[in-house]
Amino acid sequence: MTDSIHAQVLIIGSGIAGSSAALGLADAGLDVLLISSGDRLDDGNTALAQGGIVYRAPDEDPKILEKDILAAGCAHNHIRAVRYLCRKGPDVVREVLIDKLEVPFERLDDGNFDLTREGAHSLARILHCADYTGRSIMDSFLKSLSVHPNIRVMNRQTAIDILTTHHHATEIEIRYQLANQCAGAYVLDQESGDVRRILADFTLIATGGMGQIYLNSTNTSSSLGSGMVMAQRAGARMMNMEFIQFHPTALFHRDPRKFLITEAMRGEGAVLVNARGKAFMKDYDQRGDLAPRDIVTRAIVEEMVRTKEDFVYLNAYEHINDPAKRFPTIHQKCLEQGIDLTRQPIPVVPAAHYFCGGILVDIAGRTTIDRLYAAGECACTGVHGANRLASTSLLEGLLWGHAVAGDIENRFRSRSRLSRRVRESMPDWKFLGSKLNEDPVLIAQDWATIKHTMWNYVGINRTSPRLKRGFEDLRNLNKRLHDFYKETAISKSIVELFHGCHAAYIITTSALRSKTSIGCHFLEKD
Ligand SMILES: Cc1cc2nc3c(=O)[nH]c(=O)nc-3n(C[C@H](O)[C@H](O)[C@H](O)COP(=O)(O)OP(=O)(O)OC[C@H]3O[C@@H](n4cnc5c(N)ncnc54)[C@H](O)[C@@H]3O)c2cc1C
Repeated sequence: MTDSIHAQVLIIGSGIAGSSAALGLADAGLDVLLISSGDRLDDGNTALAQGGIVYRAPDEDPKILEKDILAAGCAHNHIRAVRYLCRKGPDVVREVLIDKLEVPFERLDDGNFDLTREGAHSLARILHCADYTGRSIMDSFLKSLSVHPNIRVMNRQTAIDILTTHHHATEIEIRYQLANQCAGAYVLDQESGDVRRILADFTLIATGGMGQIYLNSTNTSSSLGSGMVMAQRAGARMMNMEFIQFHPTALFHRDPRKFLITEAMRGEGAVLVNARGKAFMKDYDQRGDLAPRDIVTRAIVEEMVRTKEDFVYLNAYEHINDPAKRFPTIHQKCLEQGIDLTRQPIPVVPAAHYFCGGILVDIAGRTTIDRLYAAGECACTGVHGANRLASTSLLEGLLWGHAVAGDIENRFRSRSRLSRRVRESMPDWKFLGSKLNEDPVLIAQDWATIKHTMWNYVGINRTSPRLKRGFEDLRNLNKRLHDFYKETAISKSIVELFHGCHAAYIITTSALRSKTSIGCHFLEKD
């Protein structure tokens, strides 16, 4: 017998999407269980966001933002979702972040917001808190969430699988029903090793992105595509899984998470040079170092291959006046790695940064499985299309978290509950594997295979032969891990490896099927 908990709403993931939904639901009087796999609620990518969150320029017509988003997304976007974000998004920023949480966004002397502008935005419309916007937003959420009487918080909990009537109901009559209903999730308590059955009337997946399945990534360790894998295994429709956005310049260092070097450094004059000291960007684009992000990224990869090095350099000290003063956080981080950017070039490498696809959802965050919602980076709302416009992801997470809360509240009002019959037909977790054979060397090797395969074959420059090879390698590894998963005692690292490998496999399959080179899915001619 395993332990079991009941909540009206289970939220898996506590970044901006999960937190926004939790606050909305709890304020509406619903009982919320908020879980995260980290030691703290702010372990996801939200706290890392530097640039800011899209708001609106004074007197801005939402059509201007709409145009910018569609241009970045190569018109592969879902127009209804884009319009919803452009019209409703800024109102929710005002309602939740500015009025309710009082996030201390930068203001000018006259009291108006100090709105900034990023690449591909035609207007200055971004709210920010210096270069730590995500941290300020998360801190403000945490203050409210941690004292809210309707929210139970549980950290160090790893969701393993979503409970659905089609896959889990023990009563045969329930399995005959056409609609697949979500009834909660199986969740591993990392401390006790127990797997709990968490039953919920409604479940929200808000588990963030999957950058960590790549060799180089700016994402936190929890970004493994867990939520997408759980939803896909439960039968939810996925969308745009091939679109992974890479950032051209992350610090090349040993940490598993690569530190982001802002584009503003090139904007101020820093120059990319290869391992032989040659400035190369003009060979690729007449705009040189200020060419669009994807062109710079591909040029860097090309130079790394040509010079057989794992990185290129970004030279700030010869081109920027007092770079330490202009970029104090980067200077500090470089010093910690033994690099003095006032005298040396910075080794940089492109890194997997943002996931544009995910679990298909509608305007209310509903997935194709009844009672299952998704929001934030794990969801595909259609806002980003084939590529993301900078600083729209925090807004998307905030807005869809808010929308999910509204929709669930309405369904509660109309007395939509998970039936007792369904609840009682959800079985305890079966501990299939009992072998204590969790060998760290096997796990490290499998992770190395996943990360290298994704980086080399399903990365920045894709070709059919590379994708085919990646697909075959991952299919074999995935099969092997399925067997391993069945016979090995469950643990956090086993679940993460299983989820990470499965996420890699889904992405590769999707990339292999997509024959058109568009946005982040860049296909070289074979
Ligand atoms: C370095 C960096 C800078 C960025 N800068 C910006 C920016 O300036 N503006 C912008 O708009 N966007 C930016 N982004 C993107 C943005 O931060 C993310 O897209 C956004 O924060 C994602 O929010 P989220 O709520 O979906 O997920 P996250 O904030 O990543 O939270 C995910 C949560 O899911 C939990 N979780 C994961 N798996 C499980 C599991 N199996 N069981 C239980 N819990 C689980 C984690 O513990 C975590 O709580 C940046 C990203 C990075 C990495």
